Amino acid sequence: MVSDGARGLLGAYELGRTLGEGNFGKVKQARHRGSGGQFAVKIMERARVLSQRADEQICREIATLKLLAHPNVVRLHEVAASKTKIYMVLELVNGGELLDRIAASEGKLPEQEARRLFQQLVDGVSYCHEKGVCHRDLKLENVLVDRKGNIKISDFGLSALPQHLGNDGLLHTTCGSPNYIAPEVLQNRGYDGSLSDIWSCGVILYVMLVGHLPFDDRNIVVLYQKIPEWLSPGARNLLRRILEPDPAERIAMAEIKAHPWFQEHYVPVLPPY
Ligand code: ADP
Ligand code: MG
Repeated sequence: MVSDGARGLLGAYELGRTLGEGNFGKVKQARHRGSGGQFAVKIMERARVLSQRADEQICREIATLKLLAHPNVVRLHEVAASKTKIYMVLELVNGGELLDRIAASEGKLPEQEARRLFQQLVDGVSYCHEKGVCHRDLKLENVLVDRKGNIKISDFGLSALPQHLGNDGLLHTTCGSPNYIAPEVLQNRGYDGSLSDIWSCGVILYVMLVGHLPFDDRNIVVLYQKIPEWLSPGARNLLRRILEPDPAERIAMAEIKAHPWFQEHYVPVLPPY
């Protein structure tokens, strides 16, 4: 049975091709019949959202996206639910995942292009942090690229809000994706979600510049040898400071933005977008 809200929403949109597969269902392209506007609808099957925890994850994603409005963060337009499904109508981001973009470019990106995308990633992530949101699952599959080549951060299913902090002001849930997770998150002592997001941004930058993951064997000790000599000195320095295993020593967001390599050719995306 479909609730009135969901029936109304479904009637208003014409569903098209599948854009991607998620853990709880599909993401489909949709055309709004009234305006002709194109959107992406994330359709989550409640049967696959069996546990309480997963249901909470979806509510959290919706609550978080409602707080955010930035050119480098995917926009949520509306939400509806039926007994069997939850629908999230999102801004359509039609340039694919950052992962595909790198794969299409012979495995890595020219430094200038990697910098441009990284600048936008940092702008989006730092905006989220200013709003009290830590993403906690930043990776190439969750960073989308629009038709203009601009970054849109997506998939806030594991995000954390200020109310999720412990009494110590830290986060305690170990989550994320193995290749992108900051070392302190794995240590079960509590962590600062902004600094662990910065680590994940560093892994993303590394893949864009170098063409493969830095820590496939999780051997952080050999990182220094793993940052290739052929990268520019600025890129090498920034990577080293982001992929610093000790979060207390890791470069902060404001310092990334002030870093000379970041600053070069910096052009933020401004509305209208
Ligand atoms: P999950 O939380 O299950 O990983 P995602 O939100 O990451 O689900 O969506 C799964 C995939 O669907 C993404 O990796 C992407 O390919 C596609 N997708 C998600 N949101 C959009 C969007 N707004 N526009 C275009 N494609 C999208
Ligand atoms: Mg995802």
